[in-house]
Amino acid sequence: MKRMIALLAVLLLCGCTKQVDTQYYMMDTVMSFSLEGAQTKEAEAALSEKISALERVFSPTLPESELVRVNAASGSEVSLSKTFADVLEISLKASEETGGAFDVTLGSVIALWQKQEVPPSALLEAQITGNETVDLSNRMLKTEPGVQLNFGAVAKGYAADCAKTILEEYEIPRALLSLGGNIYAKGEKADGRPWQVGVRDPNGTASDWLGILQVRDKFVIASGDYERYFEQGGVRYHHILDPKTRAPAQSDLRETVVVNTNGSRGDILSTALFVMGEDEAIAFWRARKDFEMILVSQDGRVLITPNLKETFTLTNDTYELEVVA
Ligand code: ADP
Ligand code: MG
Repeated sequence: MKRMIALLAVLLLCGCTKQVDTQYYMMDTVMSFSLEGAQTKEAEAALSEKISALERVFSPTLPESELVRVNAASGSEVSLSKTFADVLEISLKASEETGGAFDVTLGSVIALWQKQEVPPSALLEAQITGNETVDLSNRMLKTEPGVQLNFGAVAKGYAADCAKTILEEYEIPRALLSLGGNIYAKGEKADGRPWQVGVRDPNGTASDWLGILQVRDKFVIASGDYERYFEQGGVRYHHILDPKTRAPAQSDLRETVVVNTNGSRGDILSTALFVMGEDEAIAFWRARKDFEMILVSQDGRVLITPNLKETFTLTNDTYELEVVA
């Protein structure tokens, strides 16, 4: 009898932990969720529901999204949902903090480049952008006429923050989420080892890594010039714009990765560090040291912050590893 009870307990335990692996196409990107726990089905449903709700807020293309409505009303006063107002406020502050390298008001400039051809420079210059064109108070927004917002460099990170909260609510002990390159690794693998996250080789294909990061309870968020771009006259025009020139950032970096515990900030910073370039990005990190980063330079160096020394392994020997001090 005792043996039977023990056996039953083992069976029950096995029945309790379920694994769910799913993929979605949402927010214009591939998302994958791998969850383990007692309430994986419920958590997975809540995650996909939340992310599609966020898509209805931040999508620049869904006709019924809040962003499309707000941008259509540019110049007149509009009231915002709490989510929209919160992320806009985070974004405006981040623009200040990054000296304008991250700029949520670049929407009309981004739309011009999204036509996949080099826009006329007079047209680029004519666009109205910048924090000073935005007036936000008590969830009421009024911009200068013509100003268009775009959350492309923060919305997925914000969604990853929301995903982290949902995993907590459903008591999911371990999970690996990828929201189009914005990774959240919760807990550790079933064997007690940390999650392994590949760092993309900017010279390779989507499945080529230059190194591996071991993480527990961290966001790993990357930006790079290899993800979205078009070519014209033999020149590659990628999707990360320098707000100062309104053109693809002429960065001496090819890829930036932020490792931290805040998804929105990680997403914002990965984009901003790319725009800043190597020297400015390192100075920005030195003044804060509240996040870890990996910078991949044009000339084949992989720069990491000291706390990543133990957890990052370079696997592609065409690159040279350097530790930033
Ligand atoms: P991805 O969306 O591929 O993960 P990023 O997080 O770096 O990459 O965001 C890039 C997107 O953000 C662009 O496609 C564009 O919509 C927008 N964007 C480009 N440059 C900037 C910038 N300097 N500040 C804010 N948003 C930007
Ligand atoms: Mg980003």
